[in-house]
Amino acid sequence: MSKKYLIVGSGLFGTVFAHESAKRGNRVTVIEKRNHVAGNVYTKKIDGIQVHQYGAHIFHTSNKKVWDYVHQFADFNRYTNSPIANYKGHMYNLPFNMNTFSEMWGVRTPQEAMAKINEQRQEMAGKEPKNLEEQAISLIGRDIYEKLIKGYTEKQWGRSCTELPAFIIKRLPVRLIYDNNYFNDDYQGIPIGGYTRMVEKILAHPNITIKLNTDFFDKKDEYLKNYDKIVYTGMIDKFFDYKLGELEYRSLRFETEEKNVGNYQGNAVVNYTEAEVPYTRIIEHKHFEFGKGDLNKTIITREYPADWHRGDEPYYPVNNKRNNELYAKYAELAKKQNKVVFGGRLGQYKYYNMDQVISAALTAVRNEFRR
Ligand code: FAD
Ligand code: UDP
Repeated sequence: MSKKYLIVGSGLFGTVFAHESAKRGNRVTVIEKRNHVAGNVYTKKIDGIQVHQYGAHIFHTSNKKVWDYVHQFADFNRYTNSPIANYKGHMYNLPFNMNTFSEMWGVRTPQEAMAKINEQRQEMAGKEPKNLEEQAISLIGRDIYEKLIKGYTEKQWGRSCTELPAFIIKRLPVRLIYDNNYFNDDYQGIPIGGYTRMVEKILAHPNITIKLNTDFFDKKDEYLKNYDKIVYTGMIDKFFDYKLGELEYRSLRFETEEKNVGNYQGNAVVNYTEAEVPYTRIIEHKHFEFGKGDLNKTIITREYPADWHRGDEPYYPVNNKRNNELYAKYAELAKKQNKVVFGGRLGQYKYYNMDQVISAALTAVRNEFRR
């Protein structure tokens, strides 16, 4: 029996669910409040290159099922993320690896680097890290914390590292080899032709109708009445009219500029790790595609972290104790909404990467269709 599905949001969660639902013979309507599909992975072709409109997106995963899944819809290039940190004009390789240690301390071997790191970690010896600052120092020591972590993190999250949870920094790998690959995953790359084209292919099914510039909250009650099932990928607290209180988010402001040079910074991603520079990073889009595009022009984007207020784009959930506890209460309310599946970074209030969000969507599909 075919059912009527409404998908709220055309990000990766919504589009994967829409595709799988349509494939099983259901009639699917996707509504999207923006004027384009693809959510935050949206890319737009400008001057012959794909511009990542909502910040740099590098696909990386160790989940073979997800990697095979996305390959139904796109080929991927061999881009490997190797960001550089600029701290007061000094350039350091990321993630923290032998190149970084060598630039920072002049060490040459893993043994010399380990000795230096252990010496630096001493100040945390025997203490359990209680916050991000302590976690960073016990992981890598004060020099790297002060130069490459503190300023960047405090800008990004808008609060002091002593008030931030330790888990944020556990994402950063520490390596004793000369390897600047930011990720440890088995697979990595960027869809050739851009993320938007990949999403359009996921959505290209005769059972799927897409309505842009359409906000769920303009007709919430009507939608709830008229559809058999709703997959909601917007903010969970907003769905419940913030009745238990507001969850916190971080926002971002992107400043995109065309430069009349062929190569502006020599790398796709340069992080600015000192507190005094107001942006966290500059991305130069053509380097995600190995120099495609105009030889004499390039497009760069500065990324400024920003506080979030109602109405702003909620880019990051802030998964601290207070918010996670509040989210758990909203999740209880969500369970009682039999008609609605809550999914994605905002619907599940989780700091998901793209592969994780696709995996979560495929799990939701299995739960929904039991096959
Ligand atoms: P979204 O992409 O946010 O999609 C939700 C959609 O729902 C949006 O289009 C929104 O407009 C729409 N919507 C919301 N409310 C409504 C409503 N009321 N009515 C109608 N439509 C609505 N992940 C990686 O794996 N690698 C990276 O390098 C990476 N870099 C990132 C960089 C930045 C700056 C950010 C912010 C995220 C990054 N991510 C990265 C994470 C990645 O963007 C997410 O995992 C993924 O896009 C989440 O997909 P989603 O479908 O949950 O949400
Ligand atoms: N980080 C940092 N210095 C850097 C890059 C990252 O201290 O040069 C920290 C920062 O706290 C950030 C976290 O590591 O929030 C995760 O960074 P990542 O680049 O993995 O996250 P993204 O913002 O891309 O999701």
